[in-house]
Amino acid sequence: MVQGYIFITGGVLSSVGKGIVTSSLGLLLKSRGFHVEAIKIDPYINVDAGTMNPFAHGEVFVTEDGGETDLDLGHYERFMNINLSKKHNITTGQIYMSVINKERRGDYLGQTVQVIPHVTNEIKERIRNLAKERNVDFMIVEIGGTVGDIEGLPFLEAVRQMRLEEGPSRTFFIHVALAPILSTTGEQKTKPVQHSVQELRRIGIQPDAVIVRTQRPLEAEARRKIALYATLPEDHVLSNHDLDTVYRVPLILEEQGLPKLILRKFGMKDPGADLSEWEDFVERLMKASKPVKIAMIGKYTKLRDSYISIIEALKHAGAYLGLKPVLKWIEATEIERGKISLDFIDEVDAAIVLPGFGSRGVEGKIASLQRLRESKTPTLGICFGMQLAAVEFARNVLGLKDAHSQEINPNTPHPVIHLLPGQERTKMLGGTMRLGASPIRIIKGTLAYELYGREIVYERHRHRYELNNKYVDLFEEHGLKVSGWSPEGLAEFIELDRRIHPFYFGTQPHTEYKSRPLSPGPVFVGFLKAAARLNG
Ligand code: GLN
Repeated sequence: MVQGYIFITGGVLSSVGKGIVTSSLGLLLKSRGFHVEAIKIDPYINVDAGTMNPFAHGEVFVTEDGGETDLDLGHYERFMNINLSKKHNITTGQIYMSVINKERRGDYLGQTVQVIPHVTNEIKERIRNLAKERNVDFMIVEIGGTVGDIEGLPFLEAVRQMRLEEGPSRTFFIHVALAPILSTTGEQKTKPVQHSVQELRRIGIQPDAVIVRTQRPLEAEARRKIALYATLPEDHVLSNHDLDTVYRVPLILEEQGLPKLILRKFGMKDPGADLSEWEDFVERLMKASKPVKIAMIGKYTKLRDSYISIIEALKHAGAYLGLKPVLKWIEATEIERGKISLDFIDEVDAAIVLPGFGSRGVEGKIASLQRLRESKTPTLGICFGMQLAAVEFARNVLGLKDAHSQEINPNTPHPVIHLLPGQERTKMLGGTMRLGASPIRIIKGTLAYELYGREIVYERHRHRYELNNKYVDLFEEHGLKVSGWSPEGLAEFIELDRRIHPFYFGTQPHTEYKSRPLSPGPVFVGFLKAAARLNG
């Protein structure tokens, strides 16, 4: 039975760390033996994150069931070590689409369809249905954006009503807000937090706890002031200060007693938590000191959040191996423009050619891949990176001049990467790629098999193009082997024969999505090992 709902709101500005607080709290409750999951609400009108530019919103995270979701779901999955679904990311677009469909069907016949109650009911229903369907003890609901945003209002109204309907002992509101420090005086300023709490109250929500994002631990005086203005006991105001790693946030929230406060409100005893595995992980992560330099070659390199799951997967693998990945970001377009010479490859231990869409930076990536292949530098190509590795190989080893992906050149004489079956007729771009997890059969005796140590693995996809099977024999004759296949016969992994190259691996699925702190993604572990020249 659902014991309670915990709502997380944000104040002062976005990116204040609500996602990490949500994930951390999830971990703390899960470590107490509760079944807890989290929902992210995104008040934008897009139906999902799939059609948004990663430059603006960061990575599109893909769930097991093929949802294209907000990157916060990635944090939730990593911290809580659970698989979520597309239903765990609710957007304004989904809500309105459903309300409008119902209206057209006649479900509201005779009524004037309005934000209150129709839209708010739809929101509440989705939250409750999912909590029931997944049979959770607690559902944490993070409301994206900042209190006071126009588009967030229907969601805040819905959760305000939920407090009333569920009763105060089944709901807990946490407000996360920023207390900036003025560089001139070094003072921790609490006014923005006070104001955002007031804004929250104005719409009828009194927070049960305030978590203050700040550069250094919250000072006693600042805590006292915030508690006073938020009408809260002082121990309900918590510090979420800058740390060496976000993976430490659960530990400082535990120290400050957050789960206790919540359980007390819900009338439950705190069974206590065993966080030793997590502490070990944080310890290993921080101790991992042997640097491995990795070139990250892509086109969204200005916003690191575009590749957040890959960065995190490298950290997980690094903590596991005692290695510290040092990332050198390479903007592929600058290679094309001659602003960056390919010599950067001589200065790194390994390289990742990153996922992506469209033609910008493609030739820069292909040129890098050639040099990486020829210089025997450990290389990982992910999704688009894998596809371009095949293009490079076709052009420069097989001698197929002008070989390309049809995504970039639909008229190429050698479409080594072509549209997936069924995609030709797809006109709608939202949610129509090959999405989500599916089984991959790995061929024994390959690098892929060495990495996974298993014949069947499940990894998540997000792509529209694939390796053209017409060329597979030719590729294999020249040493580029397909080492993993989907049941339908789509190439999932490609690799260079180990006699030719120590680690040249391309993966069509995004294996980064399933990497977790306590179970790092095997591809990233193998890649880092190769980068650090560790044997075995
Ligand atoms: N653009 C490529 C495709 O659609 C690769 C996508 C990706 O890297 N996620 O197949």
